[in-house]
Amino acid sequence: MMIVTPQNNPAKPGPTSFMTERNAHEVRCGMCRREFYVDEETYRSASEAIESGLDDPYRCEVCAEEYDDLAYEG
Ligand SMILES: [Zn+2]
Repeated sequence: MMIVTPQNNPAKPGPTSFMTERNAHEVRCGMCRREFYVDEETYRSASEAIESGLDDPYRCEVCAEEYDDLAYEG
C-alpha cells in the first residue's frame, strides 16, 4: 500500500518536493534544510520574512508539526 503525503501528492494543496504548475517557487525548510516547492502565496510570505531579517523562515509541514508540538509542551 502506497502512502500519499502532502509532499508527494501534487493534486493536494501544500508544498511539494518537486516543481508543479502551482508550486513554482523554491523554498528551503529552515529546520530540516530540505527544499520544497510552494505556491505564490506561501513564497511571498516566506520572502517577506526573509526581507525582515529572518534566515530560512519557512517550515515544511513535518517540521511545522514538530514545532507546534514543542510549543505546546512549553
Ligand atoms: Zn522541514
